[in-house]
Amino acid sequence: MFSDRARKIKPSPTLAIDAKAKAMKANGIDIVNFGVGEPDFDTPENIKEAAIKALKDGFTKYTAVGGIDPLKDAIIEKFRKDNNLNYTREEIIVSCGAKHSLYNIAQAIYSPGDEVLIPSPYWVSYPDQTLLNDAIPVFIKTYEADSFMIKPEILESRITSKTKALILNSPSNPTGLTYDRRTLEKVAEIVLKHNLYIISDEIYEKLTYDGFEHISIASIDPGVKEKTIVVNGLSKSYAMTGWRIGFAAGPKDIIKAMTNIQSQSTSNPSSISQKAAVEALKGPQDFISAMLAEFDRRRRFLVSQLNSIPGMRCLTPTGAFYAFPNTSSFYGKSAENRQIASSSDLALYLLEKANVALVPGGAFGDDHFIRLSYAASLDDIKKGVDRIREALDNLS
Ligand SMILES: *Cc1c(COP(=O)(O)O)cnc(C)c1O
Repeated sequence: MFSDRARKIKPSPTLAIDAKAKAMKANGIDIVNFGVGEPDFDTPENIKEAAIKALKDGFTKYTAVGGIDPLKDAIIEKFRKDNNLNYTREEIIVSCGAKHSLYNIAQAIYSPGDEVLIPSPYWVSYPDQTLLNDAIPVFIKTYEADSFMIKPEILESRITSKTKALILNSPSNPTGLTYDRRTLEKVAEIVLKHNLYIISDEIYEKLTYDGFEHISIASIDPGVKEKTIVVNGLSKSYAMTGWRIGFAAGPKDIIKAMTNIQSQSTSNPSSISQKAAVEALKGPQDFISAMLAEFDRRRRFLVSQLNSIPGMRCLTPTGAFYAFPNTSSFYGKSAENRQIASSSDLALYLLEKANVALVPGGAFGDDHFIRLSYAASLDDIKKGVDRIREALDNLS
């Protein structure tokens, strides 16, 4: 009944847990939600005002498919200022979220049977977007001991004549870790040697801690830039997940193909959101540092609390808003005749017994871990961690 394509993929597992937690909450259960993948801050007032002005001015019609020029110019200026990257308007596309830009890339460059390298643990949409475009996800395992950065020898060993691209995500969802320049240089060297594309998802660029500086792999040298499509957006930096504005920058011919594809699917992103996006990028930026300071407080508290739980081990994230502790020491244990054999067993146990929602690492390709988002208040984090500690204490 359904297409082969539709049967190849599954609904986003992060959204599934969120839905179950919301249903329990609707039934009056007090849930602490560590499952969410979006900032718990409101979109800044100046950005909302720009949207209201766009509405009042009647800026409510179709725009150019790939975005209005003032927004493209603001994006060009952002790349120049933040990443030392120079692009022209023809090298920029604005889409309905970074996810949509990533999908357009997949549509534009993958042919049936192409292999796409995806470091694992990965963000949930990379494999499924690859499958939806008849390409094959090839996972590159990364390890906690390497701060989840690609080992160059593993990368090289996974490359075949079918390999088309490597997807990079730094700062990373789910691990919260960021790539350093040396590793990026090594990765870029291998990718260039084999003439692959790099798809660099930099949506958490503005959210880094402990002095870690985000580096765009495209900025390493002009040769790398020519093979890289950088994806970014406003959802995470400006608490604008619902506005659906993301963008990509890359070689002119790829951006043109993406724009053609977008012209036959969604057309332009919302005209109103585009006006708001110009204000986000060009207006005052102090919102970001305030949000970041709050995330940082929560990060340090959450990670120290998680590490104080016997059997749990959590690296200190240097970016995004996720903690990704190793929980494998709990597998094989049980409570009240309930066996915990995997990250999803553990997540379900914690949801039902501790009323804490989080995402099992299996959803991201590594069952040894769970993901906790700290887009929650410090009080909630404290309450949630206490509940987790107690529930895990009951396992034997
Ligand atoms: C949230 C997220 C996105 C999608 O962002 P939108 O702009 O809201 O589509 C892309 N990549 C990663 C890794 C994310 O966590």
